[in-house]
Amino acid sequence: MTSLLLALVLPLACGDKGGDDSGTDAGLQVEDLGSFTTDTGGLTGDIPLSVPDDASSVMVHCGSYGYSLLGTAWHIKDGAGSLYYTNENHESYAPAKMRVGNLDDHLPVLFPVSPDHDISGGDWQINAWIASGGTPKTVSCEAVYRIDDVANNASVDINAVFVGLDALGLDAAGAPEDADFQAALEKADELLSQAGLSLGAVNYIDFSGDVDTYSVVDITDSDSSELGNLLKQDVGGAGRALTVFFVQEISSSGGATILGLAAGPPGAATVGGTSKSGMVVTSADLRADPASVGLILAHEGAHFLGLFHTSEKEGSTHDPLSDTPECGSSANTDGNGYVDREECAGKGADNIMFWAPSVEVSTKLSDDQGWVLRRNPAVR
Ligand SMILES: [Zn+2]
Repeated sequence: MTSLLLALVLPLACGDKGGDDSGTDAGLQVEDLGSFTTDTGGLTGDIPLSVPDDASSVMVHCGSYGYSLLGTAWHIKDGAGSLYYTNENHESYAPAKMRVGNLDDHLPVLFPVSPDHDISGGDWQINAWIASGGTPKTVSCEAVYRIDDVANNASVDINAVFVGLDALGLDAAGAPEDADFQAALEKADELLSQAGLSLGAVNYIDFSGDVDTYSVVDITDSDSSELGNLLKQDVGGAGRALTVFFVQEISSSGGATILGLAAGPPGAATVGGTSKSGMVVTSADLRADPASVGLILAHEGAHFLGLFHTSEKEGSTHDPLSDTPECGSSANTDGNGYVDREECAGKGADNIMFWAPSVEVSTKLSDDQGWVLRRNPAVR
């Protein structure tokens, strides 16, 4: 496989959310938190969350605030009023048992994202921060609580959305019998199953929106609006699933080859109609190398469900899990500024969530990674 950059995700969007059918699922509980306007410091103030006693995970999301702004969690307080997370532990500053990204337009926050930092029910609070330069921004917020049991052998459904892939001869009608597409799904299933997560039902969907715009997703370092605008499209699939837009390619101004992009991490699990509601996987290599497409699907799906890279490109930031190897910046012996698979051999390059995985090398998931994947609200 040629060089690939699996960027984390920058989502985007502006507009109303919609298509949320999570409230109809008995395994989930949805709380409309209301609307909040930020103060001159960009803070929403403490937003109360009624976390059920049997909740295994919580996904709070607030938006939208436009693609030109970034948001994050300022702090989260648990049911006892103790700080569960604070921005002083933001990934830019210090390691923590939780990570929250800086996300444009729409902010999903998922917890727990480590078995070392589990949750219990009670009256929690989250204070969100939007970097709006003192201009008040009003956002709508909602919480999704996962309340059904977490299975040791869990599954996640897929909304497979085909966006202008006629040149590949791939569409919703043909994909169930397409050997390469099925091989990609089987590879993703094989990779995820070692963590106790298998692929469930696949909903095959032809994209009904603007194919000419979205079959090649154009992004730049400063503008991911086209990605977010695609992810927020209503595809009519199940809400409790991974919504995957299979496109021809992702075109980036940076020159790096990007094979997939997921919202978040984490994504807005079970919620449709936001710029963080799904992921994009390119199909350019499907005919020549379906297994690599399967790896990208597994990698991006795991981002959406709450996993970060074991080590980021520069080697200075890592996931919040204690059982995944870390490859620090000192491993960068060739001086090119990033840690590659060779430099990180034995230090996490063999993990599916290495920042630059390959299908030959990156095949593993840890117990802690499986713990996080299996309790996401989108998983059953
Ligand atoms: Zn990635």
